[in-house]
Amino acid sequence: MSKPCIICVAITGSVPTKENNPAVPITIAEQVESTQEAFEAGASIAHLHVRDDAGKPCSDPDRFARLQEGLQEHCPGMIIQFSTGGRSGAGTARGGMLPLRPDMASLTVGSNNFPTRVYENPPDLVDWLASEMRAHDIKPEIEAFDLSHIVQAAKMARDGRLKGPLYVQFVMGVKNAMPADERIFDFYIETLKRFAPDAEWCAAGIGAAQLTVNEWCISRGGHTRTGLEDNVRLDRDTLAPSNAALVRRAVDLCARYDRPVASVQEARAILGLRAAA
Ligand SMILES: [Zn+2]
Repeated sequence: MSKPCIICVAITGSVPTKENNPAVPITIAEQVESTQEAFEAGASIAHLHVRDDAGKPCSDPDRFARLQEGLQEHCPGMIIQFSTGGRSGAGTARGGMLPLRPDMASLTVGSNNFPTRVYENPPDLVDWLASEMRAHDIKPEIEAFDLSHIVQAAKMARDGRLKGPLYVQFVMGVKNAMPADERIFDFYIETLKRFAPDAEWCAAGIGAAQLTVNEWCISRGGHTRTGLEDNVRLDRDTLAPSNAALVRRAVDLCARYDRPVASVQEARAILGLRAAA
């Protein structure tokens, strides 16, 4: 049997609103309910952001704690991954929730452009976030928005700033950053294998690229990410009714390519994570 495929669901993000799609979960209660449905559909990693009472992105550790608690109760064994992304807070506030010891946290090791601004990841902040993840036994998911981020993550693993083996996500289709391009995608895989031969990889396509990138991942033996953070539509005319509906699309693709969908136990083993809390 071929290698199980880990499906990650990015449920909320920092950008989408109820106006974009009423199914985007904003409150903690909505997030728990939406994640549970996605978990039951086959997702084994939940990639998480939190919002404040006005629905704006924030890094409030208390909200992350409540979300973590809700998911541990309703999605037993699911891998909890907090975002340390830059839209939700400035500087070290981005890592203020890491003492909660989620299984994983996202980490971007370099800067790039986003649709309307610079996504700033200065070296001292990256090193601090990486050291917090080491201190709390959190596995980073490297968010590679650019080729240089792959090479930099491999360097950080070699010199001990990141604990290996790496888990690297290629993010494609963010406006003003790397587009979803199949030959670049293949070069990303080739580059990662050259610089970090023991790494596992996954990828996320933004907007209309989501399903295309899911298929590239699944057909090449990687893992994949879906969810309303990255894309709120099933197609140009149809809003996705839920995070679970997007997970089901990825599950269907796994069946087409003869990839079993990883259970939470299989996903934890592939990623070398500790047993569920
Ligand atoms: Zn995110």
